[in-house]
Amino acid sequence: MRHILTLLIISISFLSCDSKVENTKTNNKQYITILGTAQDGGYPHIGCQKDCCAKFYNKTNKKKSVVALGLVDKINKQKWLFDATPDMHTQLATLEQHHLKTDKIIDGVFLTHAHIGHYTGLMYFGREALGKKDITVFAMPKMKQYLKTNGPWSQLVDLKNIVLTDLQHDSTMILNQQLKVTPFIVPHRDEFSETVGYKISGTKKTALFIPDIDKWKTWSKSIIEEVKKVDYAFLDATFLNQNEVKRAMSEVPHPFIQETIDLFKNESLETKNKVIFIHFNHTNPALQENSKKRIPIEKLGFRFANEGNNYEL
Ligand SMILES: [Zn+2]
Ligand SMILES: [Zn+2]
Ligand SMILES: [Zn+2]
Repeated sequence: MRHILTLLIISISFLSCDSKVENTKTNNKQYITILGTAQDGGYPHIGCQKDCCAKFYNKTNKKKSVVALGLVDKINKQKWLFDATPDMHTQLATLEQHHLKTDKIIDGVFLTHAHIGHYTGLMYFGREALGKKDITVFAMPKMKQYLKTNGPWSQLVDLKNIVLTDLQHDSTMILNQQLKVTPFIVPHRDEFSETVGYKISGTKKTALFIPDIDKWKTWSKSIIEEVKKVDYAFLDATFLNQNEVKRAMSEVPHPFIQETIDLFKNESLETKNKVIFIHFNHTNPALQENSKKRIPIEKLGFRFANEGNNYEL
């Protein structure tokens, strides 16, 4: 009797332990996972003596990684990364430890553009760090040329740490039988490369990823129509509104969250629900999960990306 009771207790404790593990995981087989939400400079931000970053140093807020998406496919045992951020080393570890462990660190990296938050993580693939061969990096023509002809990136190409694979505007890359990716050019401060957004499609759902863009009206396409075509739209949310920005907007043009809200004001709740804000500046209070500024915006139907959120494809 005592043996049976012990067995029962052991099996119950195993069961509860098991369900706890399950809760932290997603049951989806193919999905996007958020690996970072901050603008290029990250959070805390260099040189910031304001309240926003003081809250990191007094331990009120946690560090935020720079924007990256992981694309995870548990059916085909593959994973891809969207943007190589300065936090890439830990973001790849997160992908491996919490999502999919294979013998490859990554099946490919898609780059949006040559601003520091979006490609400098490539440095970790080089001789000083990982030093492996043949990591596939998907890049647009100018981005590719920039990496090939400027050190230290050119060394990654010469040593074949990375293998550059061509992308073309509006041309679809078939990853496997279920997943495909389409880059498209968007207007942005293109000093060193063009800038793209991505459409990422699975068998059930499609996502739009536009971490950086100038004002919506400078784009030849209608963001409203583009959002309606997809299930999720991860959109540039660098600044909350004009009050947040002391610098001239011409230096750092982005659609304010407030402007995106205004643009979508006559759209259905279903459409607003597809908009998921990402790429927050350190000064943007909406970067923080518990920000009061998020509440009225969420009540309107818009959403915010948080590290660890998963979206089924
Ligand atoms: Zn950026
Ligand atoms: Zn700050
Ligand atoms: Zn940028």
